[in-house]
Amino acid sequence: MKSTITTYEYSYITQQVNDLVSAYLSVNDRRMRDTVRATTLERITPLLPSEDPISQEFLRRLQPDRLSRDAAAKLLPTLEPLVVPFPELSIKQLSKLFRKVKKLKQPEWADLNLHELTYLGWNDGGSQKKYLVAPYQDRLIGIQGDLAPQVVKGVCAICQTIGNVSLFVSTTKKSGLGTYTRNGNYICRDSAQCNRQLTDPQALTEFLSIVRPKR
Ligand SMILES: [Zn+2]
Repeated sequence: MKSTITTYEYSYITQQVNDLVSAYLSVNDRRMRDTVRATTLERITPLLPSEDPISQEFLRRLQPDRLSRDAAAKLLPTLEPLVVPFPELSIKQLSKLFRKVKKLKQPEWADLNLHELTYLGWNDGGSQKKYLVAPYQDRLIGIQGDLAPQVVKGVCAICQTIGNVSLFVSTTKKSGLGTYTRNGNYICRDSAQCNRQLTDPQALTEFLSIVRPKR
């Protein structure tokens, strides 16, 4: 068995299944529910390795009309063996990504589901900092910045979803000139939640191209 589903595809599948369950609760017409289910299956089936027994079982269990919220919550994690997880990084690997940070607060690995993470993000409440580790051009890069204590409702620059966001200000050096640029972006305060909403990595890549450290 080979893991082939990306974490953002897994978030997309989760979102689609949860939307389907919501539709079951609000649509009384059986044929309408069948149509909604067909659309959901059409969207998620291409993301699943077709020959794999895990995908086949997953799709089979999605067939019954009116799948409950509980059943969906039990069904979704059965796909995790097919999802390529975010790597668990050692203290040494993390400190290499944040060389200038003297006392780097470590992420709470035990609380994270690595199958849901397209990027890793955690807050240091004490110093009002946020740290991000994300894939960029086939390697992992570390981004640090100041996280404003205020929480507002707005669109997150990473997951493009409306939610509780805070201003994240990072500083990048302009190549050669020795001048610094401060970049402010509103992003989800809770990065675990952000990852669950991240179904397309394009905005993350654009965000990283602006905030990544320049040499
Ligand atoms: Zn977000």
